[in-house]
Amino acid sequence: MPRSDSKLSIYIHIPFCTVRCGYCAFNTYTDLEHLIPDYVDALCSELAFVAIDVRDQPVHTIYFGGGTPSLLSPRHFEQILCQVNGLFPVDHDAELSLEANPDDLSEAYLRDLQRLGFNRLSIGMQSANAAILQMFDRQHDLASVGAAVSCARRATFDNINLDVIFGSPGETLTDWKETVQALLGFSPDHISTYGLELKGGTQLRKQVDAGELPRPDDDVFADMYDFASAALATAGYDQYEISNWRRPGKECRHNLQYWRNLEYIGVGAGAHGFFGGCRYSTIASPARYVAALKNGVSGGKHTAPTPAVAKSVEVSVADDMYETIMMGLRLTQEGINRANFRRRFGCDFVDAFRDATEKLTAAGLLIATEKNVVLSESGRLLSNLVIREFVEQIKL
Ligand code: SF4
Repeated sequence: MPRSDSKLSIYIHIPFCTVRCGYCAFNTYTDLEHLIPDYVDALCSELAFVAIDVRDQPVHTIYFGGGTPSLLSPRHFEQILCQVNGLFPVDHDAELSLEANPDDLSEAYLRDLQRLGFNRLSIGMQSANAAILQMFDRQHDLASVGAAVSCARRATFDNINLDVIFGSPGETLTDWKETVQALLGFSPDHISTYGLELKGGTQLRKQVDAGELPRPDDDVFADMYDFASAALATAGYDQYEISNWRRPGKECRHNLQYWRNLEYIGVGAGAHGFFGGCRYSTIASPARYVAALKNGVSGGKHTAPTPAVAKSVEVSVADDMYETIMMGLRLTQEGINRANFRRRFGCDFVDAFRDATEKLTAAGLLIATEKNVVLSESGRLLSNLVIREFVEQIKL
């Protein structure tokens, strides 16, 4: 696959948390904070390996995700960002995001982050309901979310996202309405609402499977999504992705890179990346990640020039088409851009998927225009079904 001429994004994974949340399936570890200084050195080393391949492709977004990136000190971020800025051509107006737990955010800490160039915060609120936060094993309460947002505003952050989760075991529509009202009371610039996924291996999944907690109800789930969509629109938020709403100009540019299926570098333990026509992932264990970068040895079979890469797969045209459709359909306004699709694959989307497009359009799940193909409002809750119709036509 030819190298993309679009700008590049960098994802930096920080795999440390003080407590593991009951719903969490991310690559993150508790009781490993003592590794942080060595881990930061290893990140800087990995970035140097990656930069050899990137050359002069401009970087327009940098995203620290986790785990809990807000466990790092300003000095750690300074070390990493000095390395990034020294190695890559970073745009002067690049988006620099940090995922954070509310309890970690003092005004002094946030002022330090501002000084280092951070311009976007994503704070894990998750719920306004104390019992749900307890069920999730979250360590904060609603008041600490408000305090974190106030500190961030005083530190002059003007791009704050709040993450919330709906559809948790036993959560009623009334509970969810209270969470949405509390969320709107904080007046964030961006909102992400995720339906709870009971992923295998998580504590919540085990409790639901064992009958200790009620299994979430699909109908209530749909009602919650509809309520949030209406309430956020009424409050002036613009939906641009199945789970994401923005104030004008406050869309997450980093996540748009994923949804547009454009290239990004992923560094850190258990990070994923898409670069040079390959999708790759790195060694998951922080200790083995640090050791691999110290020793400069390979973590496994790979073609990428970094010792942290554990797996790397060349992306076939069929895989690339699948990703482009699956991610593009998440974008509720932009959808699959037909001109971009033609440039990338040499064929028109509607011509290539005429039967599925006509069937889904007639069912009221899809809207196809000259410019793009998007899910209808009712298609958003059935996006898996829509994607399956297209995927069946791609020979994966
Ligand atoms: S804070 Fe985030 S990454 Fe850490 S355990 Fe909770 S959900 Fe997972």
